Amino acid sequence: MTRRNADFPSATKLVIAKRAAYRCSMPDCDRVTIGPSGDPRGVVGTGVAAHIYGASPGGPRGSGGLSDDQLRQPENGIWLCENDARLIDGNGGRDYSPELLLNYKARHEARIAQEQGGKAALIGWFESLAVRSSPPFANESLLPFGKTTLVIGGNASGKTALCEWIAGMSDIGRLQRWRHTNGWYSDLEVALKFFHPEPRTTAVRIDRNTGDVAVRQDQRRVPFLGPWFSAVYPLDPERPDLYPRDDRDLIATAVGIPGDAVDVLIDDINRNGSGFVNRLSSEKGGTHRLKSDVMGTQPGLSFN
Ligand SMILES: [Zn+2]
Repeated sequence: MTRRNADFPSATKLVIAKRAAYRCSMPDCDRVTIGPSGDPRGVVGTGVAAHIYGASPGGPRGSGGLSDDQLRQPENGIWLCENDARLIDGNGGRDYSPELLLNYKARHEARIAQEQGGKAALIGWFESLAVRSSPPFANESLLPFGKTTLVIGGNASGKTALCEWIAGMSDIGRLQRWRHTNGWYSDLEVALKFFHPEPRTTAVRIDRNTGDVAVRQDQRRVPFLGPWFSAVYPLDPERPDLYPRDDRDLIATAVGIPGDAVDVLIDDINRNGSGFVNRLSSEKGGTHRLKSDVMGTQPGLSFN
C-alpha cells in the first residue's frame, strides 16, 4: 500500500465540504452529498474531499512541488460525489488536470456564495468550445479550456480560426471572413460553453450558402449576442490600427494596461514559471520584441 503522507485532517475535510455546501463541485453534477439515513437520528454522507494535487508523489496529478503541509490545506481539496471522485482519479488523473479542478472548485464555491448571499458573482469561467461543423475541421471537435489554454499547431492547423470564432462570440463583426462561404461543404456552427457562474451557452451558426448569421443563447434564438464577456483579439494584420509593431504596446493596447504593467507581468510569469512557456524575454532596442521558449517549438520563439 502506498503511504499517504498528506491526507486531509477531518477538520479540513469539513471546511472543504461546507465551502461546497455539501454539493458535488463537478460542473453539471451538483449532487447533494449529505442527507438522512434510515435511522431517524442518523445522517449519511456520500461526498469526498478529493485531492487536487495528489496526497503522495506517486498519486494522480503528482504533488505539484507542494509540501505535505500545503497538500493538506483546504485550498488543495475539492468536494465531489463518490462517482466523480473516482472519475477524476481514473486514467492516472490525466483527464483532470490540477488547473481544471482548481477551476471547478473556484466556480462551485462562487456559485454557492452567490446562492447564499443572493448577489451576482463577478467572475466567470470558460468551459469549452464545441465545433459542431466547420469548413476547416472535418469532424466535430471539443476544445476544453483550462485556467490557461495554449493552442499550439503548425500553419493552417486552425489556430486562427479558433481565435476568430471565440472573438466572434462577443463581436459578430469578427466573423466577417466566415460569411463568404460559397462553395464550402458545411455550415459553420460553433458553441461556447461558460459559467457566469450558472452554465451558459452561446452558439453561432453561419449558413454556407447565404452567409446569414444566427445566434442562440442557451438554446434560444436571440437577435444579438448578450454582453456576457468580451474577447481581446487584436492580432489582425488587416487592421494596422489594432496591430502595433511593438509587442509590448500590442499587449498593453489589447488588455488596456500601461506598458510598464506588461513588464511586471513578464517578470511575474518568469518568476512563477509555466509548463509550456519559459524564459519570456523582451528585447529593448527601439521596439520591444517578445520571445520565449514554448514547449514543442524552437527556443526563442518570437511573439509574432
Ligand atoms: Zn458529482
